[in-house]
Amino acid sequence: MKVTMFSTQDYDKTFFTSHCPDGIALDFHDAKLNEHTAVLAKGAHAVCVFVNDTVDKAVIDLLIDMNIRHIALRCAGYNNVDIDYAKSQGMSLSRVPAYSPEAVAEHAVALMLSLNRKLHKAYNRVRDDNFDLNGLLGFNMYQRTVGVLGTGKIGRAVIDILLGFGCEVLCYDIFEASELKDKAVTYTDLPTLMAQSDIITLHCPLNESTEHMINEQSISSMKDGVMIINTSRGKLIDTKAVISGIKSKKIGYLGLDVYEMEEDLFFKNRSNEIIDDDVFQRLQSFPNVMITGHQGFFTEDALTQIARVTLSNIELAAKDEQDAETFL
Ligand code: NAD
Repeated sequence: MKVTMFSTQDYDKTFFTSHCPDGIALDFHDAKLNEHTAVLAKGAHAVCVFVNDTVDKAVIDLLIDMNIRHIALRCAGYNNVDIDYAKSQGMSLSRVPAYSPEAVAEHAVALMLSLNRKLHKAYNRVRDDNFDLNGLLGFNMYQRTVGVLGTGKIGRAVIDILLGFGCEVLCYDIFEASELKDKAVTYTDLPTLMAQSDIITLHCPLNESTEHMINEQSISSMKDGVMIINTSRGKLIDTKAVISGIKSKKIGYLGLDVYEMEEDLFFKNRSNEIIDDDVFQRLQSFPNVMITGHQGFFTEDALTQIARVTLSNIELAAKDEQDAETFL
């Protein structure tokens, strides 16, 4: 059974090849899946895609014309896939819903600590034999209020770490998690979380109700000097509003692992290119902004789990079987 894998990097090849069972032939491509590249999947039984592949109606029609019946997402989020249309055309779809919530949670907290204690600056200073502490002043995490927006798997893993630091945790979710019932956290409404948090960390999916939930109005309701962390999806934040908030000093720190227009930027070495995204370049210019290129998931543990679950999903789909937890 041939599986065409789009948007692959060397590490995908390493982890997928070492966990590939007999009977599956993996065909790796660097190209992103879109209308122009779908043809690469000719002769395959399934395609395997990642966060920035385009799986809209046009692409799904092309896949169906080539008799491809399964789309395996090797990620948790699926906002880039027209799920309803694919299903209406008889395709099955799978994903990896919980490969390692701790990987993303730990990265979110790494951004918090790095921004707070200015590790990015301290590292460069000491390498330059500059031991001046001026400009590196941080704050204790202990007893600070952190607003966790979205208390699913990753949000809950973040909460466990923050409780260890002695933070006060405010939460907002459209569904309250029973797992948090006995923990020292307080569910509140969204305006209260926005207004009372020293740090706001986003852990909900991108959908119509969450797109640009961090916008001019919500930013104006936040504490002066607030820290915002986004490891979920770029479009949760109106980037231009956030830039205004940083310029006016309303926002004191911004940590991003995801960016609204990341499709055209991330996962490639562009160090010799001229980046023509002025919004991204403006963001990069601030000393209190730290951006990583969608690497929250990038741990050995998570990549192993992603490869195992994705390949198992592909095997199940080939047998016309489904796992309720991993199939959409
Ligand atoms: P999850 O499904 O376990 O949790 C998401 C939570 O968001 C749920 O509790 C849901 O009820 C809540 N939610 C939905 N709509 C909401 C709204 N309007 N307001 C408040 N809460 C809302 O998902 P998860 O595994 O915790 O992942 C969260 C997100 O993290 C994913 O959707 C994905 O976009 C992102 N992610 C990023 C990386 C990375 O590498 N940076 C890796 C994996 C996942």
